[in-house]
Amino acid sequence: MTATIARPESTAHPADATDHRPRLDEAVRVGATAVLWLALLLVTYWWVAGGGLQDLGGWESGLTSLGRVTGLVASVLLLAQVVLMARVPPLEAAFGQDRLARTHRLVGFTSFNLMLTHIVLITWGYAAGELTRTPGTLWDLTVDYPGMLLAVAGTLCLCLVVATSIRAARRRVRYESWHLLHLYAYLGVGLALPHQLWTGQELLSSTGRTVFWWTAWAVTAAAVLTWRVALPVWRSTRHALRVTSVVPEAPGVVSVYLSGRRLDRLPLEAGQFCNWRFLSGPGWTRSHPYSLSAAPDGRSLRITVQVVGDGSAAVTSLRPGTRVLVEGPYGRLSARARTRRRVVLIGAGVGTAPLRALAEGLTYAPGEAVYVERYTDAPLFVREIDTLARERGLRVLRLSGRRRSADSWLGSDLGSGPGSGPGSGSEPVADLDALRSWIPDIAECDVYVCGPDGWTDLVRRDLAGAGLPDDRLHLETFSW
Ligand SMILES: Cc1cc2nc3c(=O)[nH]c(=O)nc-3n(C[C@H](O)[C@H](O)[C@H](O)COP(=O)(O)OP(=O)(O)OC[C@H]3O[C@@H](n4cnc5c(N)ncnc54)[C@H](O)[C@@H]3O)c2cc1C
Repeated sequence: MTATIARPESTAHPADATDHRPRLDEAVRVGATAVLWLALLLVTYWWVAGGGLQDLGGWESGLTSLGRVTGLVASVLLLAQVVLMARVPPLEAAFGQDRLARTHRLVGFTSFNLMLTHIVLITWGYAAGELTRTPGTLWDLTVDYPGMLLAVAGTLCLCLVVATSIRAARRRVRYESWHLLHLYAYLGVGLALPHQLWTGQELLSSTGRTVFWWTAWAVTAAAVLTWRVALPVWRSTRHALRVTSVVPEAPGVVSVYLSGRRLDRLPLEAGQFCNWRFLSGPGWTRSHPYSLSAAPDGRSLRITVQVVGDGSAAVTSLRPGTRVLVEGPYGRLSARARTRRRVVLIGAGVGTAPLRALAEGLTYAPGEAVYVERYTDAPLFVREIDTLARERGLRVLRLSGRRRSADSWLGSDLGSGPGSGPGSGSEPVADLDALRSWIPDIAECDVYVCGPDGWTDLVRRDLAGAGLPDDRLHLETFSW
């Protein structure tokens, strides 16, 4: 079974003035950033209004006061980092998951550091500013004050999550274990709430403050329950996805075809990914992100999977009829991110899967879209891409061979596809020069990139060197 190549039904050009989504996404980015800063400003204002600055005049009161403000800022950021990963559709669409995950990491580490600072300063202040009395005071506060025992338990949960998220530690932990531990963050945040409610004077000293904090906590909890739990359950039930067939694409790579009810109502776009759970036996509880490798046609879906471990290996032996649970769609590697007529799709290995879907799903005139594929042994989707080249004027560059060096994203056999230029002579060509000679106006295009982590860094470097603005680079890596 092979995917038929569909022509996009929409006649509206995604890059023309009728598509308001780029402007909507920009508004969401500005709005979300403003909301976060306003919340931070508001709690700081309340701290100042409550005499926070005057308290800095004394040693003990100063320590407690600084402890209060760091606790308030930490609480806002703690909630913000949960919302960032709550899969809120407008945020997903506006920022993309890569950017949300990076911001979540930054906000998460900052809130954790501030939370530790809050604990140290508050305790030190309560210990009359004497460092030696601080451990005893911490014990007294924990056992005597309402909600504090829970807050300490919450802090320990967050310590566990942060320790396993530090890069060096993360590399040693299996993804599944890291992900499971990461769920403790919800417990940590939840356990911190009661001490804020019962002892936090900032929360209770005015109606405005009480409303603000209750709203912030309620919105965060509702976001998680709605978009991380209820929506995936509803979509999986409504669409009742099942495996139709599993077809080999290349050694160690298979495509999985899926069908289900009312797939035209599943708001998926070519290039996006979902988290999939195949109900085929043990291991179904772990979801795996895979991108669509064909543009959705309202009747079926296709993903393409490279075997790298247990989960992906199990995909190769899925039987037709296997039920599938779906979370998503996610990702900005889609027409939504496009602002220009000319597009360039650059991928490596199975990273070409979403780009193959985009090459089919995007609208473009002959010559307006370029597909650049880096591969070591054999390119993927050869017949389908060649059909798109023939029927829709997709320009194709295939870059074969091993990587030229650790500092190069190109293959040793430069440009074996139509339109290849440099590399035929004996002089080694710099990656950036090769890129510029193949696509001289690349700085004027929207560029979609997908591949392994280090490789995409090198492509990003050369795209910046070629003058491509950041907001026209749409990048996804297949790593966590
Ligand atoms: C946004 C995104 C889109 C992806 N699209 C595709 C695709 O279209 N085709 C494809 O072949 N691969 C894709 N991947 C990679 C794919 O998800 C992993 O290769 C797969 O989950 C590995 O699982 P495993 O059990 O076989 O291997 P494991 O041995 O469990 O993991 C191997 C490596 O895969 C990564 N990984 C494992 N589970 C996850 C997870 N749930 N989320 C993120 N990373 C994980 C980790 O880096 C891990 O070290 C994508 C990844 C991401 C983040």
